[in-house]
Amino acid sequence: MSNDISIVGAGLAGCSIAWQLHFRGVGFNLLEDKPDVAGSLVAAGMLAPVTGKAFNPSWRIEEFYDSAREFYAKVEQILGKKLWYEYPVVRLFFDAKDRAKFEKKREENSALNDWVEKVVDNVPNTISTEGAVVWKGSGRLDVKTFVEASRSFFLNQPSVETSQKIYTTGARGLIDQNPLPLPHRSAKGEILTVRIPDLRQDQIISRGTWLVPTGKNDQTFLCRSLTGLPYSVIDHVAGVRPIIRRSEPVLGKIGDGFFLNGLGSKGTLYAPRATEYLLDMILAGKAAPEYLQYP
Ligand SMILES: Cc1cc2nc3c(=O)[nH]c(=O)nc-3n(C[C@H](O)[C@H](O)[C@H](O)COP(=O)(O)OP(=O)(O)OC[C@H]3O[C@@H](n4cnc5c(N)ncnc54)[C@H](O)[C@@H]3O)c2cc1C
Repeated sequence: MSNDISIVGAGLAGCSIAWQLHFRGVGFNLLEDKPDVAGSLVAAGMLAPVTGKAFNPSWRIEEFYDSAREFYAKVEQILGKKLWYEYPVVRLFFDAKDRAKFEKKREENSALNDWVEKVVDNVPNTISTEGAVVWKGSGRLDVKTFVEASRSFFLNQPSVETSQKIYTTGARGLIDQNPLPLPHRSAKGEILTVRIPDLRQDQIISRGTWLVPTGKNDQTFLCRSLTGLPYSVIDHVAGVRPIIRRSEPVLGKIGDGFFLNGLGSKGTLYAPRATEYLLDMILAGKAAPEYLQYP
């Protein structure tokens, strides 16, 4: 039986699988019938090792982080396009209590210190009053360019006879409940692109919400408002994040094939390693970690 595979859905998950199959020398068809629908086309693509109000490192970050960075660097090199922008995340403290919470958490959880670049008392041109912690190892994947360039790269490869399917159908597959009749709580997200002439464009600012430089070097940011500086709105888009179990990827066998979904709001971090686990399962018969399997 041939190992060749049809990938149904060409967003971040489907394109990541396409690359992993390409690296392994396995033939595949990348199928997409509504190319404009992918949530990946509007995603901000931020990868922040520590998120949320509780100062917790992302779920299993130590397992997924290196694979993600290596994977995007490799694809970037092959495509000859810039995809990854390394920016520190400047996480503004809400108030003195929030800052004290961070200091306490840092004492209790030494792993948190691996991601701390520094703590600062003042962040010019933001709504900061109590300073900020600056996280390192963070940045932004230009997900739209990754998806569009990957689709074009694989567009002209010859179609192959396949015996297996992988469904990477994102929120659309979950909402349609076909072929993935899985419970989900996918969530709409909106993004503004704004121009802020006087704001530094070499860092991500975060405080519950965030401001991410687009990387175009033209003072444009993807955002929700965290600065009092004057700005103009350039664009406004919306999409749906596929959520099954928080932002934790879920994979397994379903119907006539396999699936990977549930990348939630952390697809940039989780897609590369999750796709490797799935392919190890399909091609080498290795069991995927239980915490990724459904149910
Ligand atoms: C507004 C917003 C902001 C976000 N910000 C971030 C962020 O900062 N950091 C981060 O890591 N993540 C972020 N995300 C989440 C991230 O983008 C998603 O986790 C990821 O894009 C999901 O990729 P996917 O391939 O699973 O789904 P999608 O990108 O939706 O792709 C699924 C594709 O499958 C296709 N499809 C479905 N059914 C079929 C079928 N039957 N036949 C053929 N094709 C089919 C669809 O048309 C679609 O193109 C954000 C998402 C949104 C919406």
